Amino acid sequence: MRLIASIATAFTLISVIQAQNSTTVATTTTSTYPADGAKPVPKPEWMELIKNANITNAPILKSNGDDGPSTSGTDNYCDWAKSGCMGSSIGDCPKGQWGLTYDDGPSDVSPTLYDFLKTTNQKATLFMIGSNVRKYPATVKRAFDEGHEIAIHTWTHSYMTTLTNEQIVAELKWTELAIKEITGVSPRLFRPPYGDIDDRVRDIGTALGFTSVIWDHDTNDWMLAEKVPGFKSEWIDGNFTEWAGEANTSSTGGLSLEHDIMLVTVQAAIKNLPILQAAYKVVTVGQCAGVPSYKETNVTLPVNASAVSSSILPAATSSSAAAVIPAAAPTTAPSSAVAAISDANAGTALRVSVILPIAMFISTLIFA
Ligand SMILES: [Zn+2]
Repeated sequence: MRLIASIATAFTLISVIQAQNSTTVATTTTSTYPADGAKPVPKPEWMELIKNANITNAPILKSNGDDGPSTSGTDNYCDWAKSGCMGSSIGDCPKGQWGLTYDDGPSDVSPTLYDFLKTTNQKATLFMIGSNVRKYPATVKRAFDEGHEIAIHTWTHSYMTTLTNEQIVAELKWTELAIKEITGVSPRLFRPPYGDIDDRVRDIGTALGFTSVIWDHDTNDWMLAEKVPGFKSEWIDGNFTEWAGEANTSSTGGLSLEHDIMLVTVQAAIKNLPILQAAYKVVTVGQCAGVPSYKETNVTLPVNASAVSSSILPAATSSSAAAVIPAAAPTTAPSSAVAAISDANAGTALRVSVILPIAMFISTLIFA
């Protein structure tokens, strides 16, 4: 009997990056974004989008500093960090498929990951932190142009169940706007940092036209990045090997959690991707879940994209969501340069401050 424990973990990697001038990218910087370190405030028109939505009246949870909200006690609101409740969130992929995701970028090591993915024509879902999107616009543009699925990981990487409705709207919509101003598209998928989500957060996301994504296979690469005492990189390799070995016996596929924020995590990702590819059809979340990557219905994805065209995918999941889907969007990044933002893609001093994991959900799978 083998005991396979997967630890779904809360995790923070908030990067504080000193951007050095390198590549520049033209963008239409028509928006004044939240200042670094500031709690984003929503535009009034964004609040109008949830005004008539049916939002679960769950309490705003008290944060325990870096540890986030308590995960003990009864779960009355489908709180994944508490109970593993998925609700309407996407949490796995069908048998034979594997959803490949990387969180917390873009960063100065993201291009190293993209380089490798390109060599195997592998597309991934990239859950990006809004403030990092602003610092690495050229990297975001490259990821989109190379066919990766761009998705939202909030603006400040906060515990979403501790935020007010207004703050949740701001975290999602500012990140969406930053991505759209670079790529021309509005992501549909978002992942709550630490998997910290309940029905209140889900409902707000739905009202704004978003679908939440969790995971069911944690690589624990964050432990490597943080030099957690006793943690060995071989354990990450072991996880991938076990998951590949389950491909034939498991009733489902998988949806994994990795990070493109530190070189060590990218190196682990590169080392182990071929193991997954040999066992599963490795795809984006949108592909495995059958949901469109972006809100726009007439977008022509980059030629390198293997994702299904948005135009033939289902409409928004609710009437309120449909109401906020923008009209026609440019199929490529705007060509008229209103301003240029320096990208910290190269020559950048990266300083990462990390708040160690807290909320933790341990699921144990036992195989004969
Ligand atoms: Zn994260």
